[in-house]
Amino acid sequence: MSDATLDALYQEVILDHNRRPRNFHPMPAASCSADGKNPSCGDQLTIWVRVDGDQVAELSFQGVGCAISKASASLLTEAVKGKTRTEAIALYETMHRVLTGTETDAAVLKGLGPLRALSGVSKFPMRVKCASLAWHAFKAALDGAGTVSTESVAPTPAS
Ligand code: ZN
Repeated sequence: MSDATLDALYQEVILDHNRRPRNFHPMPAASCSADGKNPSCGDQLTIWVRVDGDQVAELSFQGVGCAISKASASLLTEAVKGKTRTEAIALYETMHRVLTGTETDAAVLKGLGPLRALSGVSKFPMRVKCASLAWHAFKAALDGAGTVSTESVAPTPAS
């Protein structure tokens, strides 16, 4: 497949998840949750996680934000479901490298499936925070951290 075809395909995945976000609801039976904020874009979301033994059994999210932040959260809820805690954290770490453009192993990228649609953001520094927000929130939920911000040192600007 040509690069242009791939880009179009990725674009379609992101638009589809933005239009019809998967697992977009609160989860009363969640084991843990975390709120994530990306002040530089205005993205805000909450991620709920239900852990069953060592397995991440179920995830959901709700929030407002740009297409990239919503698509990333939606893709996350599908990709992480059913993984063990260790696998889920490994995927979080891989996605961090993918989104920041430091993962170059073709086999790793290929193994990401639909998540690969997010890899294009690495070329747009402002968008990296949008795409990584859900992943940081997911990790914060697992760690019991409660809230996370992509600008943890900067105050939220008044809007
Ligand atoms: Zn955004």
